[in-house]
Amino acid sequence: MGYREEFILQPGSRLHLARIDPSCKGKHESSEKAAPVIAESLARMRALQYLLYADASQSLLIVLQGLDAAGKDGVVRHLFAGMNPQGTRVASFKQPSAEEHAHDFLWRVHRHTPARGEVVIYNRSHYEDVLVVRVHALAPREVWSKRYALINDFEQMLAESGTRILKFYLHISPEEQLERFKRRLDDPARQWKISESDYSERTLWPKYIEAYEEAIERTSTKLAPWFVIPANHKWFRDLAVSQIVADTMSDMKLKTPPPRVDLADIRKKYHAAAREMR
Ligand code: AMP
Ligand code: MG
Repeated sequence: MGYREEFILQPGSRLHLARIDPSCKGKHESSEKAAPVIAESLARMRALQYLLYADASQSLLIVLQGLDAAGKDGVVRHLFAGMNPQGTRVASFKQPSAEEHAHDFLWRVHRHTPARGEVVIYNRSHYEDVLVVRVHALAPREVWSKRYALINDFEQMLAESGTRILKFYLHISPEEQLERFKRRLDDPARQWKISESDYSERTLWPKYIEAYEEAIERTSTKLAPWFVIPANHKWFRDLAVSQIVADTMSDMKLKTPPPRVDLADIRKKYHAAAREMR
C-alpha cells in the first residue's frame, strides 16, 4: 500500500485529527534511510512533469494547507526541486487585498489555476475562506457554511476541464509548532518569518482543528481528494507528499506527444541544409 491509500481521506468519511499521529515515520527509520526513496520520487516527478508540459492537455493543482509553521513553504521548496521552473508556478494567498475582497471568494484563486501543461502549487488557498474566516468570524456562518458546496462545484469544474487536484493538510502537533517557533527565534536567518499572530492564532488551535476537520470531511471528493500528511518530521512529510504527487502523475497517462510535422519531409529539408553548409 502506498501513502496515497494510507493518508487519503476517503470521500464521505469522518476525520479525527487527534487520532492521526503527526510523528509517523512510516516504515522508514531515519531521514538518511529515506533519502534514496525521496530521490526516486523526485526523479519520477521530474520525468512526468516534462511529459505533462510537452503533452499540454492536462494540468495539476496542488493545494497546501496547515497551521503556522506546519511546513507549507518547505513543501513548496521540496516539490520544486523535482520540477522544471518552466511549466510550474506557486501562488500564495494572504489576507485578501481590497480588490480581492471586493470580489467573490473564488475570484482570486481562479485566476491562478494551472493552464494545460502546467503544475501550480497553492500555498494556502480558497480553503482559508472556511478556516481563518470561520475561526475569526470574518463572515457570518450563513456565508461561510455555503462555501463547502461552492468549493466542491468549483473543483469539480476544474477536474472536468482536465485538472488533477491534490490537497494536502500538513498535520503537526502543538509541541512541534512551538519547537519550530523557538528555532525561528534563535536563528537570525529565520526571524523574519515570525509574526505576532503566530502566538495569538496558537491559542485558537482547537477552533482551527474543528474548522479543518469539517472542511476536509466536506470537500474530500473523488476528483479532488484530501490527504492528511503527518508532518512533525520534515523528511517524512516530503517523502509522503512527493510519493503521492509522483504516483498521481503516473496515473495521468502522460505520453510524449507525436511530432507535429511530417518527419520524412523535415529530414529532406535537413539534408538539403546540411549539403549547403559543405
Ligand atoms: P502566511 O502564510 O504566514 O504568510 O500568512 C498569511 C496570512 O493570511 C495567514 O494568517 C492567513 O490566515 C491569512 N489569510 C489567507 N487567506 C485569507 C482570507 N481569505 N481571509 C483572511 N485571512 C486570510
Ligand atoms: Mg505564518
